[in-house]
Amino acid sequence: MHLNTAGANDDIIEGVTFWPIDIPMTDPFVVATGARVLAENVIVRIALHNGVYGYGEAAPFPEVGGEDRRSCLDSLAKLAQPLIGRSIQDFRTMASLMTSSAPLQPAARCGLETALLDAYCRTMEQPMWRLWGEADVRPRETDITIPISTLEETRILSNRWYHKGFRLFKMKVGKDVDADVRRLEAVHRAFPEVAFIGDGNQGFSRAECLSFVNGVTRFGGMLVLLEQPVARDDLDSMAAIRRITGIPVAADESVRSLDDARIVVEQRAADYINIKIMKTGVLEAVEIAAFTLKAGLKLMIGGMIESRIAMGCSFSLVLGMKGFEVLDLDTPLLLSTDPVHGGYRYDGPTLHPWTEPGLGISVAVPEDGSVTNIKI
Ligand SMILES: [Mg+2]
Repeated sequence: MHLNTAGANDDIIEGVTFWPIDIPMTDPFVVATGARVLAENVIVRIALHNGVYGYGEAAPFPEVGGEDRRSCLDSLAKLAQPLIGRSIQDFRTMASLMTSSAPLQPAARCGLETALLDAYCRTMEQPMWRLWGEADVRPRETDITIPISTLEETRILSNRWYHKGFRLFKMKVGKDVDADVRRLEAVHRAFPEVAFIGDGNQGFSRAECLSFVNGVTRFGGMLVLLEQPVARDDLDSMAAIRRITGIPVAADESVRSLDDARIVVEQRAADYINIKIMKTGVLEAVEIAAFTLKAGLKLMIGGMIESRIAMGCSFSLVLGMKGFEVLDLDTPLLLSTDPVHGGYRYDGPTLHPWTEPGLGISVAVPEDGSVTNIKI
């Protein structure tokens, strides 16, 4: 259907459908703050009168955002109702209304916002990345995450990902400095050209982080980035760590809003800000990214444990906005199944863009009692 032949009510939201989805992870995902063996997400589908569907995903991660799936399903029901009957052209207004009515439910908002953006872009017949400026639509490389685990398991995982072509390993650390150093050293001995991001997930003290860096330096490991080494509000230590070690620091848990980003910049607490749509919703993530670049800091982009729905939305930001230097868009590769048809595609560490409207995807709606429908 083309816009010029569409009737006045064609872009009205007629229904919002959502359902929980459990996707087992191929290996236990252990980080300093917790462990996961299952992605417990929610898929959202918005239906427009013109027959267009838009998809989104909520991936609550209690340790970061404080949301779980139950609270996410509850807020989806509340947030979806006022969207019914509105024009998809008002997606910005709807997103900001959701932010004010559910400030502490960013994953639920993100799911709806992504579906709104997808439906809008499909109605406009443009890929989602065009919405952000169409800056640079080339394939990009992601890192791969190696969770906290035994030395033996670390060797097995490293070997697997190295042979698939990955050369930037994001090592989860922050529980035990000596064990962390030994795991990085084992990977370095096997694959000396692999570079490391150390993601502490707030697990280190300042002294522990410095001793971790010393340990890695001693065996000659290439530590290119320290992500959230210490507690989110310990910006003094973040600033000290980047000054003392000379290794760039990325703020992840420290930045859950535009105000957080302002404070990180003021305190000179980071070199990078890690943008995640699940922490803030999509449009606020875009604002934080633009602010970060303007302030002279660099951008990293990651996610919670997401399928290619949410991660496709994040990849659209990379393609459509300039300045994302570090991509941590690997979680669909850590899941045992992929519920998504179409969209961007992985080839080893390379993400290949899509050219179809919106996110270019479709997802089958389950035919059972797990589906919630909110309609006119
Ligand atoms: Mg992180």
